[in-house]
Amino acid sequence: MDPIDQAAEWILQSQRLVVFTGAGLSTESGIPDFRSPGGVWSRYNPADFDFQNFLASETSREKYWQMATEMYASIREARPNAAHLAIYELDRLGKLDAVITQNIDGLHEKAGHDADKIIELHGTALHVSCLNCGKRYNRDEIQKRIKQGIKAPACDECRGPLKPSTISFGQAMPERETQEAYRRSAQSDLFLVIGSSLVVQPAASLPLAAKRGGARLVIINRDPTPYDDLADLVLHGQAGRILPAILGRVEEGIKS
Ligand code: NAD
Repeated sequence: MDPIDQAAEWILQSQRLVVFTGAGLSTESGIPDFRSPGGVWSRYNPADFDFQNFLASETSREKYWQMATEMYASIREARPNAAHLAIYELDRLGKLDAVITQNIDGLHEKAGHDADKIIELHGTALHVSCLNCGKRYNRDEIQKRIKQGIKAPACDECRGPLKPSTISFGQAMPERETQEAYRRSAQSDLFLVIGSSLVVQPAASLPLAAKRGGARLVIINRDPTPYDDLADLVLHGQAGRILPAILGRVEEGIKS
C-alpha cells in the first residue's frame, strides 16, 4: 500500500493517537534545527550550553544568552507551517490524544491546540525564569535588556541568574511533563514521530515506550533515525508536504 494511504488508514483506525515532534517540524517555519547543516550546532559548541556551566560561570551565561538571543529572533517571528496546521486539523477531527513536543517554539499552541493537548518536554522559549526564586518573566521584556547591553540578565527580586524556561543539557527534565509523556506514549495505539533525529534522551525513549505498550510506530523525518528499523512505517521527506497529504486522505476516509 502507498505509505501515505497506510499512515492515513492507521490514523482512521486509531483511538489514541500521540504525535511526537522535534525541531525538524519547525524548520519550514524558518527555525533552524540543531543537527542539520546550518543548524545551531554548526555555529555553536554544545559544551558551552551545558546547565552546570551556565550555573558555574558568568562567561558561559553570556555565551548562552548570545545563542539564545539569536534563536529567539527566529522563534518570535515564526508562524505554524503546513505540518503544524495538519496536526491541528487532526485534533479538530477528534483524532489526537496528545502532542508531545521537544520544541520550545510555541508553534503547536499558535496552530490552535488547547494548551492541555500539548506536552512541552523541553519547556518554552517564550518565557524566562529565575533559577533562584522561580520568578517568571515575559521573554520580550528580558530581550529588551539584552538589547540595551546587559549580557547575562539577573532577577529583579533576588539577583539570581535568569534563563529562558527551556531545558538545557544537564538540566533536570520537568517531572509532570515527563511522567505525562511516558503515560500517554505507553497508552497510545499509534505513535507518530515527526521531525526528530531521535538521538536526544530521554525523549527518544518515548517511541520505545509506545511500542512496548503495543502501539504502531510511524516515523516521518527527512533523514534516517536510529529507530527506523523498529518502526512499522517510515516516510523520509519534508513534514510540510507529507502531513497535509496524510490529512487529505484522512479527511477523505472520514467522508466516505
Ligand atoms: P534535531 O535537530 O536533532 O533533528 C531534527 C531532525 O529533523 C533531523 O533528523 C532532520 O532530518 C529532520 N528534519 C529537518 N527538517 C525537516 C523537515 N522539514 N521535515 C522533516 N524532517 C526534517 O532535533 P530534535 O530531534 O528535536 O532534538 C534536538 C533538540 O533541539 C530538542 O531538544 C529541541 O528542544 C531542540 N530544538 C528545538 C527547536 C524548536 O523549538 N524549533 C529548534 C532547535 C532545537
